[in-house]
Amino acid sequence: MDRDMDISVTLTKNPKQKPDAHNLPFGKIFTDHMFIMEYTDEKGWHDARIEPYGPMALDPAATVFHYAQTVFEGLKAYKAEDGRVLLFRPEMNFARMNLSAERLCMPEVPEDFGLRALDALVKIDQDWIPTGENTSLYVRPYLMGVGAALGVHPSSRYIFAIILAPSGPYYDEGINPVKICIEDKLVRAVRGGTGFTKAAANYAISLKGQEKAEEMGFAQVLWLDGVEHKYIDEVGAMNVFFVLNGELITPGLNEGNILAGITRDSIIRLTKSWGMAVTERRITAEELFKAHADGRLEEAFGSGTAAVISPIGQFTWGDRSIIINNGEIGEISKRIYDELTGIQYGKLPDKFNWMHEVK
Ligand SMILES: *Cc1c(COP(=O)(O)O)cnc(C)c1O
Repeated sequence: MDRDMDISVTLTKNPKQKPDAHNLPFGKIFTDHMFIMEYTDEKGWHDARIEPYGPMALDPAATVFHYAQTVFEGLKAYKAEDGRVLLFRPEMNFARMNLSAERLCMPEVPEDFGLRALDALVKIDQDWIPTGENTSLYVRPYLMGVGAALGVHPSSRYIFAIILAPSGPYYDEGINPVKICIEDKLVRAVRGGTGFTKAAANYAISLKGQEKAEEMGFAQVLWLDGVEHKYIDEVGAMNVFFVLNGELITPGLNEGNILAGITRDSIIRLTKSWGMAVTERRITAEELFKAHADGRLEEAFGSGTAAVISPIGQFTWGDRSIIINNGEIGEISKRIYDELTGIQYGKLPDKFNWMHEVK
């Protein structure tokens, strides 16, 4: 691909009204522009452009509609108090998107080009970045097969697009602890499957468990491994962490069914820099309940771009329930949240060199 390819820009003639900065929903309002480019086997990536946000016309036989050949990413743009526009480790999102694309037989988008496209788009729509507390511009890059063919084969045509959504907190609860239900029948991912990718199909698969949990008054599902239904994988679409006797534990990535979260990686690096003991290993739901019974389970939380940290106040597993830290946010969870968001919003020194400034 021509990495120096021009990105043509068509600005909207009808700018939309910006949303009220208070009570911003998550991912429901979109900015004035989008990025889009196309791929064919013959031409490779071409026709890169920023244009007014609006519907896309796709062939009804497009692969994405029938066989879910599509992957996505999620990151945020922040407006710092000094006016800088910041992205958090965006090169990792493009690297991960290519890992996902490879698993689904899709062409890669060179990371430096993807980041250049994102910078250009965010710059044009930067007035949409909200500045209220816990608000940001959520960024959704995605890649999909759009060739018209009903045979089960990789598509011969693709679209890569980026859309932007000014957003408030992911959970209405903010960073208050949530109740989680352990799902022991439905599974999200299996060894050898696509759990390590942000393939859209993974999320379609997870809807049922999520719906069940919500009906019973829980915020999210804790997914167990797809083979033995014993080991803890993830919580909803977040990675999961536990503090057991001062040690931070999170499931390891080697089984291929867990998404390698950028927040997860950042938390591991941050807490190690504090001198905390951090272990990536398998942990069963049984061990978790036992640790709680022994008084060793101090904190639990989910991690992901959308919520950053989502403290867990309760786990329910069949007819057993445990309450963690009296249902309050723990000290370590709070410290991680404050430091990570402090770095992301440009309030704390960027000691790991994580922030990318959009210029
Ligand atoms: C996106 C995602 C995460 C979190 O990844 P981040 O890079 O931290 O946002 C965790 N688990 C699943 C299943 C995800 O889709």
